[in-house]
Amino acid sequence: MPIIRVAIDVPLPTLFDYTVADGIAVGAGQRVILPFGRRQMVGVVMECVCTTDVPPERIKPVIQVLHDSAPLSAGLLDLLRFCSDYYRYPIGQTVLSALPVRLRSDKPVISKPILSYRLTDNGAALDLESFPKRKVVQRRILAKLAEQPCNLAQLKALSATAGAQLKALVAEGWVECVALGASTPSLTLPLQGGGNRVQHTFDNAHILTGEQQQAVDAVTAAQGYACFLLHGITGSGKTEVYVHLMHAVLQRGGQVLLLVPEINLTPQLENYFRSRFPDVNLISLHSGLSEGERLHNWQQAQTGEAQIVLGTRLSVFAEIPGLALIIVDEEHDASFKQQDGLRYSARDVAIFRASQCGVPIVLGSATPSLESYHNAQVGRYQMLKLIGRALAEARLPTVRCININQTVMHHGISENLLREIEQRIARREQSLLFINRRGYAPVLMCSACGWLSNCKNCAGKLVLHLSDKRLRCHHCGYQIRVPQACPDCGNADLHPVGSGTQRIESVLQERFPDARILRVDRDSTRNKRAWQTMREQIHANEVDILVGTQMLAKGHDFPALTLVGVLNPDSALYSSDFRAPEKLFAQLVQVAGRAGRADKLGEVIIQTAFPDHPLFRALQTHDFEGWAASQLAERQMAGFPPFMYQAMLRAEGKNETDVYAYLNQARAAAKELQQAVEILGVVPAALPRRANHLRAQLLIQATSRKVLQQFLRAWQPLLDTLPAQKLRCSLDVDPLEF
Ligand code: ADP
Ligand code: ZN
Ligand code: ZN
Repeated sequence: MPIIRVAIDVPLPTLFDYTVADGIAVGAGQRVILPFGRRQMVGVVMECVCTTDVPPERIKPVIQVLHDSAPLSAGLLDLLRFCSDYYRYPIGQTVLSALPVRLRSDKPVISKPILSYRLTDNGAALDLESFPKRKVVQRRILAKLAEQPCNLAQLKALSATAGAQLKALVAEGWVECVALGASTPSLTLPLQGGGNRVQHTFDNAHILTGEQQQAVDAVTAAQGYACFLLHGITGSGKTEVYVHLMHAVLQRGGQVLLLVPEINLTPQLENYFRSRFPDVNLISLHSGLSEGERLHNWQQAQTGEAQIVLGTRLSVFAEIPGLALIIVDEEHDASFKQQDGLRYSARDVAIFRASQCGVPIVLGSATPSLESYHNAQVGRYQMLKLIGRALAEARLPTVRCININQTVMHHGISENLLREIEQRIARREQSLLFINRRGYAPVLMCSACGWLSNCKNCAGKLVLHLSDKRLRCHHCGYQIRVPQACPDCGNADLHPVGSGTQRIESVLQERFPDARILRVDRDSTRNKRAWQTMREQIHANEVDILVGTQMLAKGHDFPALTLVGVLNPDSALYSSDFRAPEKLFAQLVQVAGRAGRADKLGEVIIQTAFPDHPLFRALQTHDFEGWAASQLAERQMAGFPPFMYQAMLRAEGKNETDVYAYLNQARAAAKELQQAVEILGVVPAALPRRANHLRAQLLIQATSRKVLQQFLRAWQPLLDTLPAQKLRCSLDVDPLEF
């Protein structure tokens, strides 16, 4: 009887052997239902073998071989094997977590058809010019459907109220709903190479600049694997380079994978690329999709029907048989790193995948990660630079610092900045205030005894939220009503200390009672559609001042915005996290990029106690190179990445002794291996207590990836034998957070 080795979603670092009844065909990559303990589970066949160490009386037969979806390819299985090994994560959990949820279930999948909307004959006959102007959303939907049929998600990207308006249009008989056939699991691979041109419509909106053309030519000329770093300031036309590269790949009949950060932007990006390739099948993969949509889209990529796959980090594991190009946009973004389970970096996995498939990969950013920048400098990647802004009239914003110790401050905003905002309001331009703290104030304090609103479960403070009069922990979610008096001394005079978005909003309201102020943070956008509605308001210039957290920093194009105020950047300058300055620089470049995108000159004002700090100097002169060079020199001196490769073992538990005992034993085991790695001491985590769990960590570093990997391979089996009951432990290879 044939024996198969199966990956199952359990926290054990092995495959499991099963038999298959004679005569039943089974191959690697197929899903099977099998008995596991007393449960029934789904597994993925990793290989078929002839012999097993499991005694014949103990080996069990699989219950069913599933044929409801095409088997995973050998290439994808290899990629997952690599990830499991590199990130030291159980193979079964690695493989299963890469699949859409529906394929992880032990129920066979029944692909439901995806509904699509199109114009009826009556709808097509409508004259949009004479359609009532105030029915803005209906007009938009009709215009969109006149181009092509769309599914609900695409239409919802047009407006927050698209769902309701769509119903109205269906009721009028102008729009109808049709079921598209569910994808068939059979492979219909596109033609590769061979000179067969595949026809598609390409909206070639711009003639490329010389720099853009050079970048496109360099990537297009690549034979096989090559990694390019496309370094270009915001507005330099990186997206346009992507579009032209995609066009070249589509012409050859290949598939493109475009990875984007985990932000609320996917629907807009999706629409943008669709508008450039109107008849190309583009699908997206991200956490906002329903399970059904995700399976449908995944299968579209798997069958080769989807030529462009646009997705967040999880899409790096999509099955893409005709993969011919990978693009990672905003490659420096921390959201490419998964922070639990399989702690992979989608950017790094994408690079491995490109080399595995022998295809080029482009990493794009205005502020490349120092890892990638260093790799480009030493020649491991090829550097492509876009120095000018694509639109001749668009100029870079001017950057200016305000010394907070030499000006009047109003609860976090300086008088000078308020005056600048006033001028913008008079000119009907928008201002954005960027502050990385939500809530009203980060802590409440008693002026008599010095009591602080500490969280009872964490080492952090409870944040004051005035809107609902509560103190909230942003780490564990614990919350209480704002006390009437100090719990320690009874004094009724409690003061908010510091400022968050809500307090800034109220300062502005007081100063500019007639201004239209919009706060954008996780609290104000909790409702799924709220952010979309806000964006529409901003675009329609119905907002004068925006106050927001980093949600506002990323990739939005607000044409009327000419002033950006950065309120409290200083803590990152002297943080214990060596990456904090790098992150701050990237974030500030990104918010600065929001100012003056159209024909108006933008200005960025930074409030700081350190106006002469090199980071702000570099921002003022738009000198990424100089900044990166000084950071890299510092990192090299201090022995930090990218000159060092790291792995972090973390543990947390209710009992401090257990946590430290585990990590100290792990450390002793590491020392015994006597390998060329540096083993640091066991130290408390940056947040040493969270949700009543004590947290500590142990850092290992080595001067080469290979040495570190060798060590980890030897160390992990020892870790698995340590007593770790009641502890949560994790090993993080190439950690980003400290
Ligand atoms: P980035 O992605 O680098 O921020 P974009 O690709 O979004 O930049 O380009 C910024 C703006 O310049 C966009 O409005 C885009 O349409 C325009 N643009 C890009 N390339 C060109 C070009 N070659 N000629 C004219 N306009 C261009
Ligand atoms: Zn007190
Ligand atoms: Zn807490």
